Amino acid sequence: MIARVTLEIALRREFDYLVPEELRDQVTVGTRVKIPFGPRQVMGVVTSLPESSTHTNLRSILKVIGKQSQITPKVLNLARWIASYYCCAVETAIKSLLPEAVRKEKEGWRERLFVRALPVHGELPKLTKRQLEVWHLVEERRELPLQELLELTGATAEVARRLEDRGLVEIAPQVLERDPYAHETIIPTQPLPLNPEQAAALARVVKALDGLTPAREVPSPASASPGLDGSPGATFLLHGVTGSGKTEVYLQAIDASLDRGRGAIVLVPEISLTPQTVERFKARFSSGRHQTLVAVLHSHLSAGERHDEWHKIRQGRARIVIGARSAIFAPVEPLGLIIVDEEHEHSYKQEEAPRYHARDVAVVRGRMEGAAVILGSATPSMESYANALKGKYTLLEMPTRIDDRKLPLVRVIDMRSEGHKQKGLPIFSLPLKEGIRQRLERREQVMLFLNRRGYSTSLQCPKCGYVAGCPNCSISLTFHRSEGVLRCHVCSHSAPAPRVCPETSCRNPEIRYSGLGTEKVEETLRKLFPQARVARMDSDTLKRKEDYRTILGDFRTGKIDILVGTQMIAKGLHFPNVTLVGIIHADLSLHMPDFRAGERTFQLLTQVSGRAGRGDVEGEVFVQAFTPFHPAIQFARRHDFAGFYEQEIEFREPLGYPPFSRVALLTLKGRNEEKVGFSAEHLRKGVEGLVRGWKGLVIAGPAPAPLARAETFYRYQLMIRCRQMPALSARLATYLAGQEWPDDITVTVDIDPANLG
Ligand code: ADP
Ligand code: ZN
Repeated sequence: MIARVTLEIALRREFDYLVPEELRDQVTVGTRVKIPFGPRQVMGVVTSLPESSTHTNLRSILKVIGKQSQITPKVLNLARWIASYYCCAVETAIKSLLPEAVRKEKEGWRERLFVRALPVHGELPKLTKRQLEVWHLVEERRELPLQELLELTGATAEVARRLEDRGLVEIAPQVLERDPYAHETIIPTQPLPLNPEQAAALARVVKALDGLTPAREVPSPASASPGLDGSPGATFLLHGVTGSGKTEVYLQAIDASLDRGRGAIVLVPEISLTPQTVERFKARFSSGRHQTLVAVLHSHLSAGERHDEWHKIRQGRARIVIGARSAIFAPVEPLGLIIVDEEHEHSYKQEEAPRYHARDVAVVRGRMEGAAVILGSATPSMESYANALKGKYTLLEMPTRIDDRKLPLVRVIDMRSEGHKQKGLPIFSLPLKEGIRQRLERREQVMLFLNRRGYSTSLQCPKCGYVAGCPNCSISLTFHRSEGVLRCHVCSHSAPAPRVCPETSCRNPEIRYSGLGTEKVEETLRKLFPQARVARMDSDTLKRKEDYRTILGDFRTGKIDILVGTQMIAKGLHFPNVTLVGIIHADLSLHMPDFRAGERTFQLLTQVSGRAGRGDVEGEVFVQAFTPFHPAIQFARRHDFAGFYEQEIEFREPLGYPPFSRVALLTLKGRNEEKVGFSAEHLRKGVEGLVRGWKGLVIAGPAPAPLARAETFYRYQLMIRCRQMPALSARLATYLAGQEWPDDITVTVDIDPANLG
């Protein structure tokens, strides 16, 4: 028996090995194995079991890792698709399929000794007083950890062993599962009666579930054709305004999938994977007719917890998985439904190789395995909405909030004129200040949003012109007042904040801090409203795992009046008592050098506004802006997604930006700027040779990247826009594999990049 294996070191090649007699039952496609490779022993994954090999003198597999083949053939296939579409080595794609803790197997199950009472036949043997005491406790509890027993009785292990010798108890190791949510008490929920919009959306999904059959045979990656087009009728775009009840539709769709004996994967952005979100799923499925474990996968779990969660899925005990990006690879079998909530979120894109987009991988996986896919959002991405209008996805619309609750009233405040009304550049406009004051008086809650942490974003000397910049990156340093440091938000370089201008010839004591961050918003708020209880939530205030829960918990129970935060507070949170949301600086994201700047701003404003008025009192939103008439701000004010889409399409079409094309972003990095620029020119010529005669293809650059220098590396970019991405990826892969770059130059390829920085 022969096994073909890809190694976990990226060689872009596969090798044949003999399967020794004693391992035959254990080796299948997807099994992870330890194999000899040259003088070393390395790990690999069996990708096929060929009849014969063209090589002679095959070496043997040494060991099988894990009892159950760790990678299912279907998921393995997905990795092949990722490698070909995202232009990376298969090994690199395979590596991301398993959590580190599962791959390493260092973190096994945690075992503990348990003492269990055995049935007593006839008379109880004569026991000492001590033994009798211990025995009574075991009998009462039937089973308990040995450690606990000893602590409770004050006895030694010897006493328990004696009872075992007498045949009264059994002492054996048992797996102790690490459950990251063990301390939560969950109150079961029942399906809610749906409103007509929800019912219509659900009916379409259920109909699709009935029309799909789970893929028995593993389809070849080629037959899944990486066009990301989705199979018509089985990929849904659920466009529902904030508070329209999308989650209830997800829950009932999962129920329908379980009815048909098939599991589900739910992807949510890492940032909205709050205990609140997880609880909604657990509350529905941890009891009732489809009782199943709900596994949770995200980056804040410990290695041990991740190990246990993953194996619960692999063993089929957890048939629902909820997680961030990489949960798309969860070994749910058979899979009936994939849900991608907030499908427009950029955090679904992985920023290092393999640079996959989990939403697009979800669509491909759905097609490969015959599963239905629901992409949900209040602000769909331009790409997905275009696919829906073209009929590639089925569009499901839920334009009203539950119980006809009104969408919040959004007021845009022109900050240019506020500058005249109050002296200097105010942080809070007069109407926003008044709004906050009223809410505090009425004991309602306020959320204030600014997508920039720190105290102020630049330090300048007005006398000599000195600007505090990062020595490693081409950006200025942010002042963090509570720590008294200047810090780079790219490389984390930090330095003590100076009191006088650091230029030796200047030493001006009047240095100026400008540009506003959340820390300063918080401070100013405390001064303006000394009686208010204010908390801040951004990555600076969340140092420990529990911080997030603590702050949100305090806000929910009314211990906090005003919550200030970055995008962390923009997503998915549901606080009925929040009646005012303030956006401090709405045009912050508008002027980024990115063709998606308008789209992002629209999405962010809509999401943040969606936090207001989710309870009985109507919500109000104040949007402070220096460019109040920008379409992204005006369409967000009117809650008009379709209007925004129309005008955005008009801007993108003539330039051939997505959704009219797909983008490949090639980035070159090196410490010598001249060499980087020179290599970039060479790369452009190479690419031109690959795509000669292709219609509608645009190559822009090379040019310095928006972040021209990061972590001491100079960066140049080439942007290719075309309609035949799978073909381009394939050519780029071959071309780049055959290229020799100067020693210190690296080239990366990002297909469908989310971040153009
Ligand atoms: P979305 O995900 O679209 O923002 P949610 O699913 O969070 O909306 O729903 C908003 C609120 O409405 C939640 O409190 C939810 O429990 C409630 N809800 C959803 N569907 C119904 C329904 N059919 N009947 C009553 N309440 C509902
Ligand atoms: Zn830096």
